[in-house]
Amino acid sequence: MTSIEWTNETWNPMRGCNKVSSGCRNCYAETFANRFRGVVGNAYEEGFKPREVPEMLLKPLKFKKPSLVFVNSMSDLFHESFSDEYLYKVFTVMREANWHIYQILTKRPLRMKQLFDSKLKEFSELENIWLGVTVENCREYRKRVSILRNTKVKTRFLSIEPLLEDLGDIDLTKIQWVIVGGESGAGCRPMEESWVQSILKQCEQQNVPMHFKQWGGIRKKRAGRTLNGRTYDNFPEFHFNSIPGKSELKQIKVDLEKLLFEAIAYPQLSSLKPMETPISSFELENAINTNQEDVTVF
Ligand code: SF4
Repeated sequence: MTSIEWTNETWNPMRGCNKVSSGCRNCYAETFANRFRGVVGNAYEEGFKPREVPEMLLKPLKFKKPSLVFVNSMSDLFHESFSDEYLYKVFTVMREANWHIYQILTKRPLRMKQLFDSKLKEFSELENIWLGVTVENCREYRKRVSILRNTKVKTRFLSIEPLLEDLGDIDLTKIQWVIVGGESGAGCRPMEESWVQSILKQCEQQNVPMHFKQWGGIRKKRAGRTLNGRTYDNFPEFHFNSIPGKSELKQIKVDLEKLLFEAIAYPQLSSLKPMETPISSFELENAINTNQEDVTVF
């Protein structure tokens, strides 16, 4: 269980990260992890240093009912420290434990897109994998959303949190869900109501469900999460597959253990097509600077 309003469970097969943009300034995951740095035996003994956590790979099999699962609440799945092979394993678990829906958010969409065009291509048709980007301002909106839009996956979503400025006109083409929220905790930056109203209006005009997470602030509980006198808890359409019976579940676990932990039974990755020529950061910046709305990468 988690207190995050738009999901049911969290799963962290990786831990740790480092900052990439202004939305990261007050990263709650970093604050939390650093509290336990040096505490022997604690999961965050190494603080916020990025690391793979293979002992957590099978955690989705333990959730008692089909759930929305936020993948990596304490990291960024597409961080450069995590190997392609390890990512393949994480997605293999999602494919096999397909009674859950996996919500993946990143601030590193370029690697996500490159992998979904190459080594992770086989996962792009799965209904139970949702890919999203976090955006906090206009600059990141244009950059990250363009890449997300060009990533081959069934469900794409945005987490606009912390919202740090008015985003102006937003194009939600090929986006199925929007989450909006303000920053909370010490040093939080304010969010104006007009910015939220503008996003809500555009979501309604473009038929995209919006989930309003919170106003944020130092006392986020007191600030609450009502907007226009109500809450907005909208989701894209989805359905859960039923959870398998005990013996089937046991077999899935045995098969997955073989696949994930016995290298000899794990030939898929080496036979995969190599990654196609990646877009360079120069090409990306150039596309953005010429106001190209969608960055066509290949
Ligand atoms: S990308 Fe996410 S997890 Fe990583 S530092 Fe930024 S806010 Fe924290």
